[in-house]
Amino acid sequence: MKVKAAVLHAPQTPLSIETLELEDPRDDEILVRLVATGVCHTDISMLARPFPVQQPIVLGHEGAGMVEAVGRGVTKVKAGDRVVMSYNACGHCASCLSHAPSYCHDFAAANFVGLRADGSAALSREGAPVRHNFFGQSSFATHSLCTEANVVKVPDSVPDGVFELLGPLGCGIQTGAGAVINVLQPKMGQSLVVFGTGAVGLAGIMAARAIGVGTLVAVDRVPQRLALARELGATHTIDASRIADVPAEVRRITRHGADFSLDTTAVAAVTRQALDALGPLGMCGFVGGAPVGTELVVDVRDMMLKGKTLRGIVEGDANPDVFIPALIEMQAQGRFPFEKLVRLYPFEQIEQAIADSKSGQTVKPILRFLDD
Ligand SMILES: [Zn+2]
Ligand SMILES: [Zn+2]
Repeated sequence: MKVKAAVLHAPQTPLSIETLELEDPRDDEILVRLVATGVCHTDISMLARPFPVQQPIVLGHEGAGMVEAVGRGVTKVKAGDRVVMSYNACGHCASCLSHAPSYCHDFAAANFVGLRADGSAALSREGAPVRHNFFGQSSFATHSLCTEANVVKVPDSVPDGVFELLGPLGCGIQTGAGAVINVLQPKMGQSLVVFGTGAVGLAGIMAARAIGVGTLVAVDRVPQRLALARELGATHTIDASRIADVPAEVRRITRHGADFSLDTTAVAAVTRQALDALGPLGMCGFVGGAPVGTELVVDVRDMMLKGKTLRGIVEGDANPDVFIPALIEMQAQGRFPFEKLVRLYPFEQIEQAIADSKSGQTVKPILRFLDD
């Protein structure tokens, strides 16, 4: 079938919206007609770097849409179901079998290569293959092929106006919320400091408020985002462009240092601050795609004497089939208002959405596919 997709032909070139040919779903595949897709920072970093994806490729990995057809072996969803697509995993390695699919032994192959496991491409242009299977979905397109491994059915009770906002639950939002709820697991009244108040950081702040964290500090350099962080539950904010020693400021606010910190910036110097801001037995989690080879210098003696933990986190350790419906329910109850992060754009304005995300003007862009 013919589909419309935003194609990346080379790093640091604009995306080009083109008509491509998409194969019919194989036995294990699910054809989804996209209703909307989020733009994640990982998409944006793929635009700039020659690694790890190869071009031409269709990016996008926060898709929400309607199932149009399923292969003969698919039982999880059926035509007409509304779904969110999340990250991909092999389903049979030790991590996948231990319910930790975001640490799948084949995570890179399943999410970044852009081909099916057998090396074939379902997407092509005039007979030439176009890579598609980005995070098992390549959602910057009117249609996508995914599998049971990364599709989550959305409850029928969700109104359409909310449904079109759900794509980012598949990556950015579950990453921030999951880092707090699944990994750091602060108890009621403990303190947490979040570095970076983009979509991931703000999702972490909303999750922290929902589970009763005490002192909740947001750190960023953009005043509007800090104001939003406060609206969403931060008890204190630190403008890092005005405060020279952020860890000292966190220690001042929390008295002995934070119980937990979360760095969402993927900047090693900030991760170091997140570690330095901890008190005794504190735990620092960090997320985000730092460039390959990025190194982090830590104060070994301080880490040892204070019993600190540093933990890398992928996709918030979330099992999407369990975690995404839980976030949907919390949003419906008004306890996880991620709709406040969102700005909608028509799919054709994808370049504008990316520019607004990079400039900080939009926290979470969502592209809508309008019927033509
Ligand atoms: Zn696996
Ligand atoms: Zn992402």
